[in-house]
Amino acid sequence: KAKEDGRNKYCFFTAGMQSQFNRQLQLENALRHAIEHNQLQLVYQPQFCLHHKKLSGFEALLRWQHPELGFISPAEFIPVAEHSGLMIQLGEWVLQHAIQQQKRWYQQGYSGLVMAINLSPVQFRQPELLTIISAQLELAKLPPHCIELEITESAMVEDAEQAIKTVDAIRHKGISIAIDDFGTGYSSLSYLKRFQLNKLKIDQSFVRELLENHEDRAIVTAIIRMAQSLGLKTIAEGVETAEHQGWLQQLGCDEIQGYHYGRPMSAAEASQFIIKHLSDR
Ligand code: C2E
Ligand code: MG
Ligand code: MG
Ligand code: MG
Repeated sequence: KAKEDGRNKYCFFTAGMQSQFNRQLQLENALRHAIEHNQLQLVYQPQFCLHHKKLSGFEALLRWQHPELGFISPAEFIPVAEHSGLMIQLGEWVLQHAIQQQKRWYQQGYSGLVMAINLSPVQFRQPELLTIISAQLELAKLPPHCIELEITESAMVEDAEQAIKTVDAIRHKGISIAIDDFGTGYSSLSYLKRFQLNKLKIDQSFVRELLENHEDRAIVTAIIRMAQSLGLKTIAEGVETAEHQGWLQQLGCDEIQGYHYGRPMSAAEASQFIIKHLSDR
């Protein structure tokens, strides 16, 4: 009888689940170590303004090359950080490093560039968030309009009342807010009127087949029109070809980001990119 029970229990926890659990535990420990030993890196992907036809800023993206496990995608380790309590620490590391990099470019005279920084929902709900960001900006002697925070729709739906207060406080400080992966979250559009946002970042899943798929084109067109009526800017992500860029420009999109204009690159490469694209600053 006991043996049967044991076997039933064992069957419930499959080998697949076991290895997934092990991987998560392994990543959690490795990530804690990586944060403490500065083994993470930020790369910067350029953003292009379709009105001024020039570089408008960069998005900071995390990279993790583990000595034994190899390259680990943020799509895999960010959720691990969120579930293991490491996200606050990791998020602070990102804020600090992205703002310090922005400071270097600002001091070199490229004061019009904006650094977009991703915020996890966990960070967004952190009461000390604005205090931390303000301190980092002050330390870098940067005005608040130099950075933009990217948050997802999911960050705003959980506790809407608190979220409105957080957004108001961020905006009051002079920092702008973009909604990342717009159109993919399970939220209602009503938050667009309740939150003082600046920008919608059209998810790359709508951009990918913009040319072939007329539903995607209809959705992108609608997002851009809606944003315009609401006084919000739009940026399209995942723009991989000149044709995509042309369509988006015609539809009235404000900015683009994607492999066509530039891939995520190291700080040194990004500095070269700036020199090449903003030589007339
Ligand atoms: P995201 O914020 O939506 O970032 C855009 C992702 O699209 C990036 O993937 C970028 O490398 C990729 N991408 C950019 N252009 C193209 C393109 O033309 N084609 C295609 N196919 N992909 C493109 P990445 O760097 O792997 O990041 C994945 C996600 O991980 C990010 O999505 C973001 O949600 C999260 N993430 C990355 N860095 C951070 C961070 O510092 N903090 C937080 N909280 N999340 C981060
Ligand atoms: Mg983003
Ligand atoms: Mg995105
Ligand atoms: Mg995305």
